[in-house]
Amino acid sequence: MPELPEVEQVRRTLSGKIEGSRIEAVAVLLPRIIRAPEAQAFCEIVRGKQILAIERRGKYLLLRLSDDWTLVVHLRMTGRLLLCQPPGCERFARIIFSLSNGACLCYADNRTLGTIHLLPSNSLSELAGLASLGPEPFAAELTAERLCSLSRGRRIAVKSLLLDQRIIAGVGNIYADESLFVAGIHPARPAGSLSCDEWAALLGAVRKVLAQAIAHRGTTFRDYRDANGEAGSNQLYLHAYGKVGEKCGRCGETMARIVLGGRGTCFCPSCQR
Ligand SMILES: [Zn+2]
Repeated sequence: MPELPEVEQVRRTLSGKIEGSRIEAVAVLLPRIIRAPEAQAFCEIVRGKQILAIERRGKYLLLRLSDDWTLVVHLRMTGRLLLCQPPGCERFARIIFSLSNGACLCYADNRTLGTIHLLPSNSLSELAGLASLGPEPFAAELTAERLCSLSRGRRIAVKSLLLDQRIIAGVGNIYADESLFVAGIHPARPAGSLSCDEWAALLGAVRKVLAQAIAHRGTTFRDYRDANGEAGSNQLYLHAYGKVGEKCGRCGETMARIVLGGRGTCFCPSCQR
């Protein structure tokens, strides 16, 4: 599932290629991807709009359109936003925007769990998942003190807290496991048991792990591709995620797997405490 680094890589590979273009036509091949408004109204509103900017918030992509509309895309499990040259579009194309620069912006999705909303830009708060997002991982307002105070007394596993998008936007299963490994913190520890120094180490690890993944253009195990259709390479640099049964790169212990909050979790039972 695309997390912050992958969504950011999609944004970067689209940026500079779609801004300024107009949406000349829309083909809706699978209407239920569009959650609001219904497909016909969606097409009528979008047609003729200019794409002004592409932004990211957490795991959401926001295409800012003329007349103060915003297209909100969430890729979920297998969604892809690709730039194609017609007539060759993606096999799993679901929504195709034909642009005035001659390219197609194609929303493709194998498992079709992704969503697209079209909203007036001043109504984005109506989208609950977007409105409730916590700060971006690199935002100055996100501090160890803030994490320390909002986790005080909480018995939820620290990993589950990292996955809560209301606490930090954009961290998913891969980067939560990686961050906890780098910080040397056991993923099942109650969040409230971490000291402020441990929160500082963990926040530093989250930032380091995400920055490295962005530099490697994201992690691709199977489905994820950027807007040019290219895979990332960060899977070659992982320490914990998917490493069950392998030797810990730090201490040599065998990496273990547990399930926390329904999510598979890999960690070192010796050097993550
Ligand atoms: Zn270890």
